[in-house]
Amino acid sequence: MKIDILTLFPEMFESPFGYSLIRRAIDAGHVNINPISFRKHGVGKHAMVDDTPYGGGAGMLLKPEPIFEAMDAIHAENPDANRRVILMDPAGKPFDQNMAEEFSKEENLVFICGHYEGYDERIRSLVTDEVSLGDYVLTGGELAAMVMIDATVRLLPGVVGNESSILEDSHSTGLLEHPHYTRPAEYRGMSVPDVLMSGHHGNIEEWRHKESVRRTFERRPDMIATLDLSDKELQWIEEFKTEE
Ligand code: SAM
Repeated sequence: MKIDILTLFPEMFESPFGYSLIRRAIDAGHVNINPISFRKHGVGKHAMVDDTPYGGGAGMLLKPEPIFEAMDAIHAENPDANRRVILMDPAGKPFDQNMAEEFSKEENLVFICGHYEGYDERIRSLVTDEVSLGDYVLTGGELAAMVMIDATVRLLPGVVGNESSILEDSHSTGLLEHPHYTRPAEYRGMSVPDVLMSGHHGNIEEWRHKESVRRTFERRPDMIATLDLSDKELQWIEEFKTEE
């Protein structure tokens, strides 16, 4: 997968993608992450990338020309790529795990990072998706793009060593993930549940499934409400209610 990032601050991406799994994914050739300064397509001798809004008002807007020209260059390099062009926008669709899964299947992702007050509206004609990281306003789209890229790249085949762990992650199954424990079995008066040390795989699976339902029920009733629960899961939920 190739990921192009249109930004005014390409250096911001060096550190987040310079470590751990994402770094290894880049080194192993699973992904090519390519921050591009669209300032190089700036207008006039001062390479202007922003301007005041028509009609007046506060703040500066990103001009259309630098972004259109940067997109022309990406397109010219590989005109036939299966490409998603994703605009970082607090007014966009909220990013989630399903979106990360969709993005992970594409050949080329282009993230457009805004700054200042926002974009000239015509820039939206270039994009396939307008996406928000959440209901708050950041100073620029870079941090949002980093989060979305991280969540997407870890889903690429071969990036996470144990791929079954990805399938069990919170939000991948529709439920939050169950609790985990590692050694020691007893720590400061807190012990590991006996079932996890029993070696009985069936019971362990059932305990994990139940705790996953419990955690989702307790923390994210909005998620539980969207699931088609089995009779057993419904029965567990009745149990949790009596425990409350
Ligand atoms: N005036 C804009 C508005 O009210 O929607 C906010 C502009 S914000 C200061 C500058 C840029 O940061 C945005 O154009 C966008 O690219 C990025 N940004 C800010 N918050 C974001 C969020 N929650 N998700 C994604 N991008 C965001």
